[in-house]
Amino acid sequence: MDKPYALVVDFDDTLIDSGKYKQNLFVLAKDFGVTLAKANFAYLTATQNKPFTIKRFSKSLFLKDIQKQRQFQTKARLIFFKPKQYNFLGVEKFLKSLGKTYKLYLLTYGEKGHQSLKIKQSQLGKFFDSLLVTAQVGKRDKLLKFQLKWGKLVGVLDDSGNVCENAKNLGLKSFKIKKGFKNANYYNKLEVRINNYFK
Ligand SMILES: [Mg+2]
Repeated sequence: MDKPYALVVDFDDTLIDSGKYKQNLFVLAKDFGVTLAKANFAYLTATQNKPFTIKRFSKSLFLKDIQKQRQFQTKARLIFFKPKQYNFLGVEKFLKSLGKTYKLYLLTYGEKGHQSLKIKQSQLGKFFDSLLVTAQVGKRDKLLKFQLKWGKLVGVLDDSGNVCENAKNLGLKSFKIKKGFKNANYYNKLEVRINNYFK
């Protein structure tokens, strides 16, 4: 093992502004005549016990209207097209720098196809040794695998309290990522925190 420590890094709201693309989806829904309340309800229905996909969301929005579902899906894909659109400022420098010291794993909750689309858009995949997608919200099974392979030499970066709790229970160090907007200054400080812990 060339690098002594592993970092397991979350994607949504840790590296990219997921609230922003969700907002864009709702704006698009509005163009289709759907109110914000209805779009919110459709989103909740589409993500209940299941990861988000454009297809599931469009079905939930337009129920039996297949034609509208298809039209919406086509337009929604454009929301995930413009490269780096949702990346938080400073995130590339942060990952590039960490990658020199740590083995980096991206561990994201969601549906494989949809997450791949977003990872591709972010162009952040190249900074990681491995890209992992799980359909388990708390990520416990995957975290357990890291614990078995790396022991305690793992840091988990996630904005989800649930995931951080699971990491802690497995004896892994968790770095809780703040919710909402983040910039280069935030990532710089976070990098210092991580390095101080593992040095
Ligand atoms: Mg997240």
